[in-house]
Amino acid sequence: MKIRDVRATLLRTRSIFVEVETEDGAVGLGECSPMNGPVLAHFVNTALRPLLLGEDPRDIGRLWHKMLTRTYKLGVQGVQPEAIAGVDIALWDLLGKSVGLPVYTLLGGKHRERIQMYASIGGGAALSPAEMAGRVQKALDQGFRAFKIRMDWGVARQNADPAKDLEMFRLCRELIGPDMPLSFDANNGYSVSTAIQQGRRFEALGIVHFEEPIAQYDYAGMAQVAAALDVPISAGEHEYTRWQFRDLILQAQVDIVQPDVVKCAGLSEAQRIAVLAETFNRQFLPHQTQPTLGTAANLHLCCTLPHCTRPQEYTGPRPELEEMFEAPYVFEEGCLQIPDRPGLGLTLKPGALERMAAERG
Ligand code: CA
Repeated sequence: MKIRDVRATLLRTRSIFVEVETEDGAVGLGECSPMNGPVLAHFVNTALRPLLLGEDPRDIGRLWHKMLTRTYKLGVQGVQPEAIAGVDIALWDLLGKSVGLPVYTLLGGKHRERIQMYASIGGGAALSPAEMAGRVQKALDQGFRAFKIRMDWGVARQNADPAKDLEMFRLCRELIGPDMPLSFDANNGYSVSTAIQQGRRFEALGIVHFEEPIAQYDYAGMAQVAAALDVPISAGEHEYTRWQFRDLILQAQVDIVQPDVVKCAGLSEAQRIAVLAETFNRQFLPHQTQPTLGTAANLHLCCTLPHCTRPQEYTGPRPELEEMFEAPYVFEEGCLQIPDRPGLGLTLKPGALERMAAERG
């Protein structure tokens, strides 16, 4: 079995889908992080493709190592692992489809097949508390029974309006009642002292995890916040490989690690990070904002992890992406069902990729 082609396609939605095609016409599907769209697609098509043509796609570990080491000087945090991610996921999908087994079987076997999802609702910085509560109500109506509100302001705006954030959290808690899980994502926007003060107030209202309370690069500060609060502190969407996650665990002392399979160099490395998390007795809760291939890859790994039992991140159904596939995953009663079809269980309809491709400039 040999690789005949590797193609990354940028979609109109900014998603990047990767196809790995063999000489006999079989195709594996993967996805890269959408954060650096055209740059990432170009990286896959120009830097990774030549390393893969003619190779045996079943040698996933060896090809992962080749991609990492041969493009090392192009940056190990950001574009490089995000590009490798799309190819690596496609290789796992291709292997599963070629042997007729779901990816979760190749990764060790599933512990569960139905995964509860939490509604990940962003844009808090620009919304009033009432507007955010309105979005939570909409997610409740869609069937969600677990929630996270995200501020989305980043490191550029520290402690912009903590009183408003608290009121937003309080209103959302009041709306959903005392029992449904509610999390808060500061998107790196607090100082250490403000994060600790806010965290105590969130704890009093009922919070299940406090995500990226401060700047992601301040490991010492993160450790201070984690030590001061009872609520589990999480981070990891800005980390890429096992070496950064080692530092996040040992230095930042987070309770929950959050790699994203479309950023952290794919399923191969996400599985190693999961082992690392389990070794240090930390919880594993992926960042996942890509609703089709990215979420499918994350869930195939999550269902193989015995302790990965928290509701998983989901930004909600995206019909324009889902209708590209023959049989998209089904979201019902706040849960996604993982199909037992080969690979990731997703196959593109003929012509779907071409119809959704962004215009080439
Ligand atoms: Ca986040």
